Parts: sequence; structure tokens; C-alpha cells
Amino acid sequence: MTDITISDDELRERTKALIAEVDPHAVDQFTFRGAQYDAGLGMVHFPVGKGGLGLSRSKQAVIDEILREAKVPYHDLMINPIGIGMGAPVVLNHGTEEMHKKHLRKIYTGEDIWCQMFSEPTHGSDVAGIPSRGVRDGDEWIVNGQKVWTTLAHVSNYGMLLTRTNPDAPKHRGLSYFILDMHAPGVEVRPLYQITGEAEFNEVFLTDVRIHDNQRLSDEGDGWRVAITTLMNERVALGGGSGGKGGGPIRTLINHWMEKKDDLDPLTHQITRDKVAKLWIESEVLRLTNQRAKVLAKSGDAGPGGSIGKLMSAEINQRIYEVAVDLEGADGMLHNSGYPMTRSDEAMGMGEVSGMFLRSRANTIEGGTSEIMRNILGERVLGLPGDVRVDKDLPWSDIPK
Ligand SMILES: Cc1cc2nc3c(=O)[nH]c(=O)nc-3n(C[C@H](O)[C@H](O)[C@H](O)COP(=O)(O)OP(=O)(O)OC[C@H]3O[C@@H](n4cnc5c(N)ncnc54)[C@H](O)[C@@H]3O)c2cc1C
Repeated sequence: MTDITISDDELRERTKALIAEVDPHAVDQFTFRGAQYDAGLGMVHFPVGKGGLGLSRSKQAVIDEILREAKVPYHDLMINPIGIGMGAPVVLNHGTEEMHKKHLRKIYTGEDIWCQMFSEPTHGSDVAGIPSRGVRDGDEWIVNGQKVWTTLAHVSNYGMLLTRTNPDAPKHRGLSYFILDMHAPGVEVRPLYQITGEAEFNEVFLTDVRIHDNQRLSDEGDGWRVAITTLMNERVALGGGSGGKGGGPIRTLINHWMEKKDDLDPLTHQITRDKVAKLWIESEVLRLTNQRAKVLAKSGDAGPGGSIGKLMSAEINQRIYEVAVDLEGADGMLHNSGYPMTRSDEAMGMGEVSGMFLRSRANTIEGGTSEIMRNILGERVLGLPGDVRVDKDLPWSDIPK
């Protein structure tokens, strides 16, 4: 992992050459992103031949800046947020060469959408205690159980499935991790509607689903370690932001402020201006903190530091959209799209401030709640005494349910 051999200028030149060779405005998403992957400019911290150039993760920003300037459509994480943010690093770190070949490029192009199947109705924060069960049957596993809050499951081809394969081991040591074909018999996806009126996530029922053992990532019983890779990368993806200085949610607020500020009475104007300025500063601190975390992160291995960005961005986002919706005055109480209860394939695509305000309520829950982020930061980053975990060493089957 070194970034000595390729300078930022060289990266810019390579990105411009890619755009000149494969016109992103003339070809489809899969063609352009496929070419970007092949040139190593897709996930620059991945190895050569697997979408990257083996550079520091922070160098992706150099490439993204050129793509943004050239107004390349479909260049961000939202193409396949869970696949690119978590699926790719998990497959890279825990998958076989065959899995790398089969999945990494298609994840990057968005040809295969991925979802993450961890949470179950009784276990979200304490995901290590999940009760779904995988029972071995020769070369296959038969899985039964229910997942919930599974974002994008309705459009996914593959799911990252965590399930219990040994109930007699302590909860963290009896889990295994599989790549699940979402179209396999026995997988049933049902939408769950959210406060925004969209069904971005789902409950997924697994009834006698057969998974070949060659779809297991890492050893039997080692699923928790793979889950940690997933969760740490999720926090970087959720908290990482790629909008550049002044970009992302704060840009929405600044634009909104510029539009509305002259209509405010003098006192509200002053108070709101202070709030906007404070949020701009905090957003910039967050951006720089994330940049530092990306420099420190190894390829696909995000480390607990990603929890800082996740915690901060969730809380700043909520405050940004609270100020934005306040700027709307009484109109802020209206949700323009009128709770259509739609099944958006893109999800999260709400353009309205009210939609973003409502969606931001989920930020402090998804990918681990803010309380859990504070526990991780306290324990893993600051070295403070751990949360009380009385069931940690008990066989899972002996834990009172
Ligand atoms: C928009 C959205 C998308 C999601 N997408 C996915 C997905 O794709 N895949 C997936 O698997 N899951 C997904 N989730 C689920 C998410 O990971 C869980 O909701 C989250 O981990 C919290 O779990 P829970 O809802 O069961 O709440 P609980 O774990 O029951 O928590 C309830 C409350 O107790 C607090 N709490 C719990 N334990 C502790 C503790 N030890 N110390 C202090 N406080 C604690 C929590 O902070 C929370 O306030 C999504 C959630 C949302 C909102």
C-alpha cells in the first residue's frame, strides 16, 4: 500500500484520459464504470486488477474531483451504496480469488446490487445475538429465519448474510457469513414503508433456503470477524461523505439560506446565520476528520475510527435539515411529495428539504445507533472500560430469550 509511485497529477491525467477515451455522456453506466474499474480508478485503494491501484483511500478524492468537474453522471456511491461501501471490501478481504472475479467488477458497475442482512426483529444493536439458523446438510446449509430493515433487498441480486451455525458456542463465536443469492428459492422480500413515504428497506423471510458451502466467507463460526469488516466499512460509507469542501448536506443548507435569508426578520436572520455558520464549520471539521481516517485506513479495512465520522455526520445531518426545514417557515410542515408510499428503486432520492429532514431521522439509527458509536469510540479508540456484557461467554443456547 503506497502512494509514492503515482502522483496526484498523474492520477488526474489518467482520469482525464479515461473520460476522453470512454465518453461518459455517450455510453451507459455499466460501460463507463466498467472502464473506470479496469483502469484502477474506481476504488483506488483496492489492488491493481481489482478496481484499484493499491493507493491510499484518500486518493479517490483526486479522481472524484475530475469526474465531478466533467459532470460524469453516475459516479458516486449511491449507484450501489451497500455493494460498493461494504460488499466490495468484504469480498476482497474475506473472499476467494474466484469470488473477486465474479463479484468485484459487477458491484462497482452497479450491475449487481447488494444488500446487508444482519438485523433481525429481536436483534439490531446486539446483532451478535441473532436467532436465525443455518443447519449443515452435506455441502449445503439450510437457513431459516427473518431479517429486517434490509435496505435495497427488493432490488438486490446478492445479500451479505449473517446467521447462527453453532448455537452452543458463545454468541460471537457461533455465527457464519454467506453470500446469498437473493433470487434463491425460499427468499421472500416484503417492503417496509418509512416516515418519508418510501419503502427503501424490507423484511426478508428465509424459509429452508439452501446455500452452498462455497458461498461462505471465512471459516465456519468466524462470521463475526467478517461482520466487523462490514460494519466498519459501513460507518466509513455512511459518515465518509464525498461532496468535497462545502459539499453534501451543508451545500443544500447554504443554497437554502441564500434563497430565504432576505425574507427573515432581523432577529431570526441573525440567529439562523449563526446556526448556519456553526454547521458549516462543523461540516468542514467532519470532512477533514474523514480525510484523515481515510489516509489511515488500510485497503478495505476501515478500523474503528470510521465510527467518528458516522457519529458526527449523523448528528450534523439532523441539525442541518432541522435548520433547513425551519427556513421554510410554515411550509416546512408540508411534505411536498405527499406521502405517496412508493417503492422507489433508487430510494433516498428525495429532492425536497422536508424529505431530507424526515430521512435524516434514520441517520442516528442506521449502521449502528449513536449510543453504540459512542460505546465503540469509548472502548476501541479511547480505551475506556467496556459496556457491561454478562452474556458474552455463555453458550448462545443458554442465554435467556
Ligand atoms: C434507514 C435504515 C436502514 C437500515 N438498513 C439496514 C440494512 O440494510 N441491514 C441491516 O442489517 N440493518 C439495517 N438497519 C437496521 C439498523 O442497523 C438497526 O436499526 C440498528 O442497529 C438498531 O437496532 P434496533 O433497531 O434493533 O434497535 P435496538 O438495538 O433495539 O436499540 C434501541 C435503543 O437502545 C439503545 N441501545 C441498545 N443497546 C445499547 C447499549 N449497549 N448501550 C447503549 N444504548 C443501547 C439504542 O441506541 C437505541 O436507542 C437499518 C436501519 C435504518 C433506520
